[in-house]
Amino acid sequence: MYYIKRKAKKKDKPLPLFDKAGVTVKKKPDYKKKLDEIFSKYIRLKYAMSNGMCQCISCGSFKHWKEIQNGHYMSRRYMSTRFDEDNCRPQCVACNIFNQGNAQMYRRRLISQIGEQRVDLVEYRARNTSKHYTDFEYKELIKYYSALVDKLKKEKGL
Ligand SMILES: [Zn+2]
Repeated sequence: MYYIKRKAKKKDKPLPLFDKAGVTVKKKPDYKKKLDEIFSKYIRLKYAMSNGMCQCISCGSFKHWKEIQNGHYMSRRYMSTRFDEDNCRPQCVACNIFNQGNAQMYRRRLISQIGEQRVDLVEYRARNTSKHYTDFEYKELIKYYSALVDKLKKEKGL
């Protein structure tokens, strides 16, 4: 997605097509990607112990919070549960990427943590509701989770 900037800043490289008109094209920030990054940090820090270690929801192995991922129980492609805290837990790379989310063990552990009703609700929301985030919502959520990340880092000394 692109939008046209009227006044060119020095760092914006004008595209040849617009150069003569004195107009530059600036790439729009990818808010979804930015929120994915900060939300992932938040989830990993939320479950990190004071020594910085996190446990994989699926296989139970321990990894440092910087080396573990934010694993989604219901796939990230469902936007309605992509940023749902009930749907996200630290998960090791092996389970998240190579073992297709190790979903059966994920479900079992998630139920032991939050109960079957809430897990059912996550499944229902993922499959039956849709969500479109506006830029404003993205920006607010990025601010919100950035503040929480800072708070958790301070609290846990990480
Ligand atoms: Zn694992």
